[in-house]
Amino acid sequence: MTDTSRPDQPTPRRKPKPALESIGGRKISPTTAMMGYGFDPVLSEGALKPPIFLTSTFAFESAAAGKRHFEGLTGQREGGAEGLVYSRFNGPNQEILEDRLAIWDAAEESLVFSSGMSAIATLLLANCKAGDVILHSGPLYAATEGFISKIMARYGVDYVDFAAGASREDMASTIDEAKEKAKANGGDLAMIYLESPANPTNALVDIEAIAALRDAAFAGEGTVPPIAIDNTFLGPLWQRPLDHGADIVIYSLTKYVGGHSDLVAGGLSGAKKWIDPVRALRNTMGTICDPNTAWMLLRSLETVELRMTRAGENAAKVCAFLAEHPKVERLGYLGMIADASQKDIYDRHCLGSGSTFSVFVKGGEAESFAFLDALKIAKLAVSLGGTETLASHPAAMTHISVPPERKARLGITDNLVRVSIGIEDADDLIADFDQALAQA
Ligand code: PLP
Repeated sequence: MTDTSRPDQPTPRRKPKPALESIGGRKISPTTAMMGYGFDPVLSEGALKPPIFLTSTFAFESAAAGKRHFEGLTGQREGGAEGLVYSRFNGPNQEILEDRLAIWDAAEESLVFSSGMSAIATLLLANCKAGDVILHSGPLYAATEGFISKIMARYGVDYVDFAAGASREDMASTIDEAKEKAKANGGDLAMIYLESPANPTNALVDIEAIAALRDAAFAGEGTVPPIAIDNTFLGPLWQRPLDHGADIVIYSLTKYVGGHSDLVAGGLSGAKKWIDPVRALRNTMGTICDPNTAWMLLRSLETVELRMTRAGENAAKVCAFLAEHPKVERLGYLGMIADASQKDIYDRHCLGSGSTFSVFVKGGEAESFAFLDALKIAKLAVSLGGTETLASHPAAMTHISVPPERKARLGITDNLVRVSIGIEDADDLIADFDQALAQA
């Protein structure tokens, strides 16, 4: 108890209760952990939910404590800051969110950001120097492709890419090509960057194969490039890339994790050794998400399993209907993969088929636009992973900046409509798609 009769004594810091990790020998599941992990109400006047900490800075207990925090922050002492210092670095809402996000991928640490793109940009900048090469799968979310090919290029960072779904042999040769290019440029192969499933085609990358090939290519060398993967389409429920050899998982938390289309945020999860350099750059640049957004994401994480499960079930029903529809050429849905090697990757890596897929409408842009314009329940909007169903036309919208020949090579065609199924009644959605296809 605080001794109020001795004002010269510093107020002792109240220690949070240790987080509940297991009960009766049973490990707490991620869903249960989302209701309270990392937050002790005793520290906040008994508030059941964490208050939103709107403060730009945190008072130190003493000048010596302030010095220790800064020694940790600047790397003069191992272990980072021992408490909260300044809101560009971190805050209580963001720290609780990071603790909870890490649980889903069984990661050592997580970091949260102001957007998926600021997570990606901070990650790439933290890992690359002039002369380096990034090896990436394709397609990537168009802003990520642009950031690598146009912005990183300005700082002397080059890239080599391979198509998601490339054979083992092709992936091995692109690793060799990227290493050679880096050597010629006087740098290193700094990072292997994947997006799987890829936006918007849903093509899968064999994470296990690329990890094995990376390890073989760098055997005996002191350092290996980390494998980062954008898991936005299936995470955090339906794919756990760290289990398959990836080192860093990337999320646009705007999508399934946020889940209500009412915020923009990003996240990274992985081992401390990969996360620490990114944290240092985030501290400098201030790409951390704000406390309000962190609070909203804590609310969202409480229902993420419920929402994703329902959306996944709805998508299976809608796709069963669409697959038989005479105006649908084919579907890019992970629950109905025709290609044997993609199916093999799916069986090894994925825990569910997701709720974001491509509908290849018979015809081209005109028919696709007519279909989109006729939808009444599904909203015509980019983004995915929200409670409501959305549909968009990647070739004319999110991926409009991808050059035509690259679009053709990667299968981003004029008759591709991307759909993200929400948690509405599945039969209502089927009725909506039916009447809209009649207009196509
Ligand atoms: N990664 C993928 C796969 C995406 O679809 C998006 C956005 O659509 C992003 C990253 C970027 O995320 P944000 O919009 O939160 O910056």
